[in-house]
Amino acid sequence: MKQKASSDNWARELARGAVSIKQLRSLDLVSEETLFKAAQIENEFATRVPASQIEAIKGQEESIRRQFVPSSEELRIQQQERDDPIGDQAHSPCEGLVHRYRDRVLLMPTHLCASYCRYCFRRYKVSHGGGLSPSALKEALSYIRKRTEVREVILTGGDPLTLTDRKLAQIFSELSEASHLRTLRIHTRIPTVLPSRVSEELLEILRTSRLIPWVVSHINTHHELNTRAKEALTKLRKAGIPLLSQSVLLRGVNDSTEALKTLFLALAELGVKPYYLHQLDLAKGTHHFRVDLSRARSMMAELQGHLPGYCIPKLMVDLPGGLGKVPAEKEWAQQTKKDHWKFQSPIKKDCVQTVHYPPSN
Ligand SMILES: *Cc1c(COP(=O)(O)O)cnc(C)c1O
Ligand code: SF4
Repeated sequence: MKQKASSDNWARELARGAVSIKQLRSLDLVSEETLFKAAQIENEFATRVPASQIEAIKGQEESIRRQFVPSSEELRIQQQERDDPIGDQAHSPCEGLVHRYRDRVLLMPTHLCASYCRYCFRRYKVSHGGGLSPSALKEALSYIRKRTEVREVILTGGDPLTLTDRKLAQIFSELSEASHLRTLRIHTRIPTVLPSRVSEELLEILRTSRLIPWVVSHINTHHELNTRAKEALTKLRKAGIPLLSQSVLLRGVNDSTEALKTLFLALAELGVKPYYLHQLDLAKGTHHFRVDLSRARSMMAELQGHLPGYCIPKLMVDLPGGLGKVPAEKEWAQQTKKDHWKFQSPIKKDCVQTVHYPPSN
């Protein structure tokens, strides 16, 4: 009985989110121009604005509106932007798996999220169709069982916490049978976009697994951290689950030293260690969110000395074509001229890649 009651809660909250541009127009949250282009925009990437953030959007909180409310700017595609900006496909041994680093793999069981972030780096896949079929999941699990060098499975997105408790418990249980696995990481946006999903049943699955769970929450501004989001993170912390955060640096959302400082301090006060700050990937139709990498680096430099060391995440670039993630630091990233950067791949020795970012306007 109890289980039913709480899954009902989050399903109900999920259903309260807005799922079309038309619906957002009736709430007076999008422009006429965006409504006019609705079919084109939603053909590329679906709409889902979480109920948990609608109040803030109605209250004109621009940092929240920009993240979740679709805009016709998404139809302006830059030449450098691509469908699969970080080259997942190049390292995908079977559907729903990406094995880029020897010791850890990504498993993507679903394409659904509780919110659709307009800058999503997997927007060519996320929101389209449901995700892995039972037989594809079986094949992915069987690949993981055979690769004994893998220590960690990272469930990622789509948002793995949109799966039912039953499905999650099944994945946890099958993975814990593989004795070479040690940790199970969950990359999720749930704590701020669907806080009711952090139910007792979910905590039980995480707490009782043989695999040590790490939960990495995607959070971009302290405005997302309303009372319910804070409660969800606190529940996870009190259940003894190690918590990290990742954020994406986004123009008009969090691109100031002050905004970042406030966010990182707020996270630390909730027991969440800021892990990565991502330079926006070159996904199609995301240019209006892009921040120059040189500006990103100077903001990070300004934080140094003004926050406790553990509040400062690493600024990361995920290289196009599947060459891996690198810190945007001198050893890995050098600016050659304006908007041109030379990166050293962390997985292919002596492989240097030059990226030309579209100039910001
Ligand atoms: C980002 C990513 C990981 C995780 O990298 P960490 O640096 O351990 O957080 C693992 N595999 C793939 C394919 C990734 O893109
Ligand atoms: S939660 Fe992650 S995967 Fe889902 S839309 Fe946002 S960025 Fe994309």
